Parts: sequence; structure tokens; C-alpha cells
Amino acid sequence: MFRADLHCHSTCSDGTVSPQDLVRLAKTVGLSALAITDHDTIDAYLLAEPVAREVGIILGTGVEFSCDYKGKSVHVLGYGFPYNDPQIHNLCMRHQERRKNRNRAILDKLQRLGFALQEKEISQDGVPVGSMGRPHIAHALVKRGIVHSMKEAFNLYLGEGKCCYERGEPFGIPETLDILHAAGAKVFLAHPHLGEGLCKVKELLEMPFDGIECYYARCYPEQEKRWLKLAKDRGLLISGGSDFHGDFKPYITLGCSWVDEETFHQIFPNL
Ligand code: AMP
Ligand code: ZN
Ligand code: FE
Ligand code: FE
Repeated sequence: MFRADLHCHSTCSDGTVSPQDLVRLAKTVGLSALAITDHDTIDAYLLAEPVAREVGIILGTGVEFSCDYKGKSVHVLGYGFPYNDPQIHNLCMRHQERRKNRNRAILDKLQRLGFALQEKEISQDGVPVGSMGRPHIAHALVKRGIVHSMKEAFNLYLGEGKCCYERGEPFGIPETLDILHAAGAKVFLAHPHLGEGLCKVKELLEMPFDGIECYYARCYPEQEKRWLKLAKDRGLLISGGSDFHGDFKPYITLGCSWVDEETFHQIFPNL
């Protein structure tokens, strides 16, 4: 049976599995197609593509952009753009700069609490990654024995609104949607159940999204049904995936959420 996981993270952002190994893992777990959706970078695609051809996985381009909406974080998924699109590349570069400044600000706040982490500790086993963020800082706090788990790091220090949280330079949803659309991408509102409820989702969907991420790991069936109905009522596309992060979220397996062949081809008509 055709299954496509359209939401996962590699070592190019806050996943712990390399793009090449993600594709191999996709094959092992019986997926037919995959889109790697790293936070604010598309670097994984070029690394993964030759392996996808070798092992027989259909690989689509993907990205998960961090946006700000009224001071809160919203994630936007983009699919099916040319991987060498200059405007998307430029947006990724701006995000990398934002992340560098933001990580530094978070480390400053932690230092004021007496937790002096070095910038070089914020890496995957010493290897610097592209989109570094709060999970890397959380992991470093665990390694230092300052917290017991990454979850605790978010609950105590790094989660939205906690004492060491930094929003960083905000990127708006309209600008992000414009850039993705200009590149021919289909754009989805990611994991709507993690937001502030149906009203907020409806408000967000006033913006020109192409679809909603309806299938998601650890999303309850009644939540899925709610998003599927909303997509149908509004004539929006459906997407889905696991949001696999490897060891950073060990309770989520690649392929545990997926879309079927018809849904996949609505998002990737050229594949
Ligand atoms: P960042 O892109 O640096 O803002 O980090 C966002 C990522 O951190 C999310 O995509 C999740 O992978 C992870 N994350 C956010 N909140 C939590 C949490 N409460 N517990 C564990 N991981 C989280
Ligand atoms: Zn993540
Ligand atoms: Fe997300
Ligand atoms: Fe994600």
C-alpha cells in the first residue's frame, strides 16, 4: 500500500538522523514517498535525493518555516518547490541569521541563571548543523545534567513564555506564503491541534493557505476528523506526516502518520 510521510526532520535541523539515513529508514519502514521538512532549511533535499533514487523512494521537496502570528509561533509547511529556488534559499539564509542571534540571546539568559553553555555545545555530537534551535540547547542542558530531560528543559526554561524563551526576529505568515507560492509550492498550516483551538485556526486560514496538516502523530482521531471536515468545507488540501525527529522525540516513529497516493499527488502533481 502506498504511504507517504510528509513531515520529518533531519540533522539539517533538529532531527538526529541524517537526510541519507532518513531515506533508507523510509524504505525500511515500507514507505513509498517522503518529504523532509526541516525547520527553515532545505539543505536535506540535495543530500537525500541520490539515496532516494538508489533505494526507490519518491522524494518531494519540503520545508517547515517558523512564523510569528500576533506574537505566537506558527509553523508553515511548504511542498513541491524547485530546491534551487533563489527566494526560498534567501528566506532560509535570513532564518539562519535569526537563529544565530536568537540562540545567542537564549544562551545569555541561561548564563544569567548560572548555566554557562558554550555555543559549541549546541550541536549534534559536536557536528554543527544548519538550523540550530531550542532542541539543541535542551539536549545540551540534559548532557550537562542541568535538567533530566529535554521536556523538562522546555517546561522550565525554553518553552514559549518561559524565563529563557526568546522569540527572535519575527517572520510573518503572509511574507512566507508569498515566497513559497511564488516558487510554485503548496502551503499547509502545520499541526493545527498544537495551536489555540478552532477559532484561531479559522483565523489563520483567512490567509491564503492551500491546505491543513490533518494527519499527525499523536493527534487523536476526533482531532483528525475535525481538520478533515474543515479542509473539506473550505476546499483545502490535506497533508500529513509523523514529525519524526529521531532520538529528540524517541516516542515518534517515521511513517506513523502518512497520506495515501491520491493525496500525495494532489500536493506533488509532478512526481
Ligand atoms: P525552535 O525551532 O528552536 O523554536 O524549536 C522548535 C522545536 O522544538 C519544535 O519543532 C519541537 O521539535 C521542539 N519543541 C517545542 N516545544 C517543545 C516541548 N515542550 N518539548 C519538547 N520539544 C519541544
Ligand atoms: Zn522540530
Ligand atoms: Fe512544527
Ligand atoms: Fe516539525
